[in-house]
Amino acid sequence: MERTYIMIKPDGVQRGLIGEIVKRFESKGFKLVAMKLTKPSKEHMEEHYVDLKEKKFFAGLIEYMTSGPVCAMVWEGKGAVVTGRKMLGATMPSESDPGTIRGDLCIEVGRNICHGSDSVDSANKEIAHWFPEGICEWESCSKAWIYE
Ligand code: UDP
Ligand code: MG
Repeated sequence: MERTYIMIKPDGVQRGLIGEIVKRFESKGFKLVAMKLTKPSKEHMEEHYVDLKEKKFFAGLIEYMTSGPVCAMVWEGKGAVVTGRKMLGATMPSESDPGTIRGDLCIEVGRNICHGSDSVDSANKEIAHWFPEGICEWESCSKAWIYE
């Protein structure tokens, strides 16, 4: 079963949106298999966003992302990566559709409250980076009511 790395950024934590975001993934039918509140170091965050290190917004992004705790999560389910990205909405909140997390809950790209893996490959890398201790395997009692 596919897994994706979803992270509530410091603004999402500060604004009390953890419950709202978790609720959407839970209600969708995805299964939470790892979760922790953590204050990442600069080095840890730079590694997470290593592909963006040449961008002009990189320094600001790292400052933002290390400004407080983040809620790191792994969600599991069929199509979790692609569907997770759809649920988050477009990177630019001004372009995110209503009904998406970013479309409903934020205004600026530099305060867009959540992160989601953009491919299965990056999901695997991000899960290993944020959860070196491993994830929690469990069987959900609602499985037969979510999957045919
Ligand atoms: N970002 C930014 N300015 C930009 C583009 C991106 O501050 O012009 C930030 C934004 O918080 C975004 C993050 O950098 O979520 C990572 O960028 P990416 O292109 O990977 O977007 P995402 O995968 O988060 O949708
Ligand atoms: Mg990205």
